[in-house]
Amino acid sequence: MKLAEKIRRGDRPFVVAGPCSAESEEQVMSICSQIAQNPSVQLLRAGIWKPRTRPNSFEGLGEIALPWLVQAGKATNLPTTTEVANQKHVEAALKAGIDVLWLGARTTVNPFAVQEIADALRGVNIPVMIKNPVNPDLQLWIGAFERFEQAGLTDLTAIHRGFSVYKHPKYRNVPTWQIPIGLKEERPDLPIICDPSHITGRRSLLLEVSQKAMDLNFDGLMIETHPNPDEAWSDAAQQVTAHGLNEILSQLVLRSSEVSESVQGMLQELRSKISILDDRIFELMGARMEISEEVGQLKRENNITILQQDHWKQVIASRIENRGEHRLTQQFVRQLMDAIHQESIRHQTKVMNIEKGAS
Ligand code: PEP
Ligand code: MN
Repeated sequence: MKLAEKIRRGDRPFVVAGPCSAESEEQVMSICSQIAQNPSVQLLRAGIWKPRTRPNSFEGLGEIALPWLVQAGKATNLPTTTEVANQKHVEAALKAGIDVLWLGARTTVNPFAVQEIADALRGVNIPVMIKNPVNPDLQLWIGAFERFEQAGLTDLTAIHRGFSVYKHPKYRNVPTWQIPIGLKEERPDLPIICDPSHITGRRSLLLEVSQKAMDLNFDGLMIETHPNPDEAWSDAAQQVTAHGLNEILSQLVLRSSEVSESVQGMLQELRSKISILDDRIFELMGARMEISEEVGQLKRENNITILQQDHWKQVIASRIENRGEHRLTQQFVRQLMDAIHQESIRHQTKVMNIEKGAS
């Protein structure tokens, strides 16, 4: 059976786990044999070549570490997977007997690299998992699948790992759930796994994001695990022990796919969409209040009052006049604008009343 079919049809979630990076034979064997105790874990991961942001960080041990992962797979009777970023990696991984390959986000973003890997795999029957590109470009992600399909590879799975962002207060890579949802819409045939480790960058958020992925009907999870996460050579803050992984998996609330055929499932999908929109509304409100504070700063420097009555009257009138296109009632628009205004005044007041000379 194709891996993609197993992921799609088996019990949810299909779990891929293992260390961010292979660090030693002992480390790989120890974490893999621990996580293999959990029947949800069905594929072992370990990074052999690591695409790091800055040079002189740990860039993976390379080929020497491949047999360690293969050995761990044999010992646990589980298939293995590693990231490949060029033809040399592909050749080495195939030669060592790795069962599944994956493309990292920094590879999917580059069509030349994707094509090179697809060409290197022409005629090879191996499952490939493709992470989303670092930027939120659905077509680029879909294009990577098409390059593999054109090279004759048909056992394909998507991995959602979030999108690069500058200094986000919560996520290492923002999930922007609309993109994987868009992929599900355009390519319903592809199974999709969520990688909460790289989305969150910290272990305390893994459960929340994993639950969200399950609620959005993702097929599986890829979670980085390490015998001693704080000592990991890469991505220490986001890795968990085998025990941590068990905790997360046992706390997940799983809605069965049978239920999703009924009204209840449809309701859940709609609510998830609403929750995504609410997330966006709150994100936008936060961004709006930051600008309000800048306005407050400018008013303070120029010694003008917070409330500019005429301006505010115009803002309300124009919102009420144009509310029709959003199908909102006049009363709702008025209440919402008043609430936003109150909150904005609160932010501006805070900025206005910083004592002169206070540090
Ligand atoms: C990884 O899985 O270790 C990795 C490097 O992921 P990404 O490509 O999502 O950054
Ligand atoms: Mn990692």
